[in-house]
Amino acid sequence: MYLVRLIYASTINQGFDQKDIEQILTVSRKNNASNHISGILCFGHNYFLQCLEGGRSAVNQVYHKILQDERHNNPLIVDYSEIDLREFSDWTMGYVPENLLGKALQSKYSPSTEFNPYNMTGESCHLMMRELKQQIPTL
Ligand code: FAD
Repeated sequence: MYLVRLIYASTINQGFDQKDIEQILTVSRKNNASNHISGILCFGHNYFLQCLEGGRSAVNQVYHKILQDERHNNPLIVDYSEIDLREFSDWTMGYVPENLLGKALQSKYSPSTEFNPYNMTGESCHLMMRELKQQIPTL
């Protein structure tokens, strides 16, 4: 079984609020721990950017479940790679809130100063998430 990394962007649906984030993180951390999935979830300016890493079929299954979730729409896979090692093994689902996705970071990885993962290359998304690892608690 290969290890893979899948990174996708999506947009929240109307009515989404902070309680939804907390619920998503609680369920994700429980499920991902059982399925040996690790990763991080960034949320800002109504967009999600999530990195999922783990066995190929486990990542495929959770991604299909996430696609059915009515709390978001317009999913776009920005990167999919077979990987030799995990980069987010300390997180069953790390969380990056909007205040960590500031202007300086966006200027470095994207064409504008506002977080918009649809305008970023897969590699920019990946490198930005790697940089953010130092700023989020392990969970
Ligand atoms: P269930 O028992 O079916 O649901 C668990 C709880 O989530 C319930 O309390 C239910 O009220 C709530 N819930 C489930 N689906 C919805 C829905 N469509 N709308 C509103 N509330 C709902 N799941 C993971 O396992 N791993 C992840 O990494 C992950 N990342 C996510 C990232 C994003 C941006 C989003 C939007 C969702 C993510 N999810 C993730 C959640 C996923 O979409 C499913 O809701 C979840 O996996 C269902 O898990 P379950 O079958 O164990 O739980």
